[in-house]
Amino acid sequence: MEQIQLLPPEVWVYVLSYLNTEEKHTVRFCCKHLKNLVDHPSLWRDYTVVLSDLRRYTYGFWDTLNYRSLTRVTVRHLGRKEWRRLVKFLPSLSTIVFVDGGRQYKEKYLDALSRFPDLRGVGVRNAIWDEPVLGHNLAVQLGRRLTQLSVCNVRLPNTVQFVNSVSHLVNLRYLLFHQQGEGYGLDTVRPVPCSVFHNLLLNLTKLKHLSWGMKGEPPEPLPDDYFNPADPDQPGGNSLTTYTTTIPPSVTRLTLRVAITLKDMDSIAPKVPGLEHLDIEQNRSSGSLCRRIPMLFPQLKTLRIRFFRREPEKDLLSLHKLRHLVRLELIVERSFILRDYLNGHPWPSPSVQELISELQELSENRITVITTMRQRNPLRECDCVWEGD
Ligand SMILES: [Zn+2]
Repeated sequence: MEQIQLLPPEVWVYVLSYLNTEEKHTVRFCCKHLKNLVDHPSLWRDYTVVLSDLRRYTYGFWDTLNYRSLTRVTVRHLGRKEWRRLVKFLPSLSTIVFVDGGRQYKEKYLDALSRFPDLRGVGVRNAIWDEPVLGHNLAVQLGRRLTQLSVCNVRLPNTVQFVNSVSHLVNLRYLLFHQQGEGYGLDTVRPVPCSVFHNLLLNLTKLKHLSWGMKGEPPEPLPDDYFNPADPDQPGGNSLTTYTTTIPPSVTRLTLRVAITLKDMDSIAPKVPGLEHLDIEQNRSSGSLCRRIPMLFPQLKTLRIRFFRREPEKDLLSLHKLRHLVRLELIVERSFILRDYLNGHPWPSPSVQELISELQELSENRITVITTMRQRNPLRECDCVWEGD
C-alpha cells in the first residue's frame, strides 16, 4: 500500500491507461487505493456501460459509475423508476442506446431524454414501436441538441412520419437509419418517397456520416420505382440516382445498405467530392466496382465492401490506386460462406488471400486489409454491420 503511494496518482493513472477493461476490473479488487485510481474518469472516457437491470444495482455500483463520469450507456426498456435512477446517478450522459427492448415501446418512454443536458446521441436497436419514436414534442426538445441518431431494425408505425421528425434535428452529424417493414406481419419494406428523403437531406446541412439501409433482399434488378414512384417524364431513370441527388456535400462518410449498380456510383460520386469513408455492398450489375472506385472517390481513406455473390477477383488490385487508402475491409455475409462452393474454405479463401498480399505489396504496405468484423461503438454498430468510428 505504502509502496503504491510512492508514485503520484497521475503516473498511476497513466500506467493504468494501458489496461483493457477486463484488466482494470481485476486491478480494482487489489486494494482500495488502486480501486480509486482505476476509477479515475479519464480511464473511462470512451467506455460504454451496459445496464441490463437497473433495479438490481446497489448504491455502491451507481456511485462508482457516477465517479467515473460515464457518458455512454446502453439500456433495455426503461420504466419510470429506472429513468429516475439514470437521471439521478448519471446526469452527465451524452449517449443513450436502447437495445433489444423485448416489448413494445411507446413515445412516453423517451420523455426523460430531455433531462440529460449533455445528451447528443440516441440509438435504438431491435425493437417494436407502437408510437412515433420521435414525437413532435421530443423532436422540438432535442431538435438542436442531438448530433447523432442511429436506428436499426426497429418496426415503426409510420416510416415517413419518422423521417419527417428526423428532418427537424438540424444539427445531426451522424445519421444511421436501417429501415424495417412497418406495422405487423409485413416483411416488405415500403420505400420512403423521394420527396420525403430529399426534404430530410436538405435540412441536415451539417451531416457528415450517412448510413441508409433497407432490410431484406430487394428484388433484382431494382425496379425504377423502388425508392419513388416512377416519374413519367423520365422513364428508365435509375432509382438510387434519383434518391441521392440531395446528399449534402459535407458528407465524408457514406454507408449504403441498399442494392447498388455502377451507374449509381457514377451519380453519387459528384455529390460527395470529399468522401473519405465508403461502405457498400458488392454491385449487382456486371462491371468492375473495384476498378471504378479509384476514379470516382479518389480521397478515400477507408473502404468496406460486403461480398455476397462472388469472391473478389483480380480487379481488387486496382484499389492500390487510391493514394490515401489505409484500411480496406473485405467482409462476406454468412450465407455466402455457407454456399456450396465455398464450403470447407476459410474466409478469405487462398486465392483471395493471394490477391490481398499482392495488393499490400503494390501499395507498399500502406493498406491494411481486414477480413473480419470488429465491434466498437454501440451507437454506430448494429446487427447489419459495424459502422466505423
Ligand atoms: Zn443496421
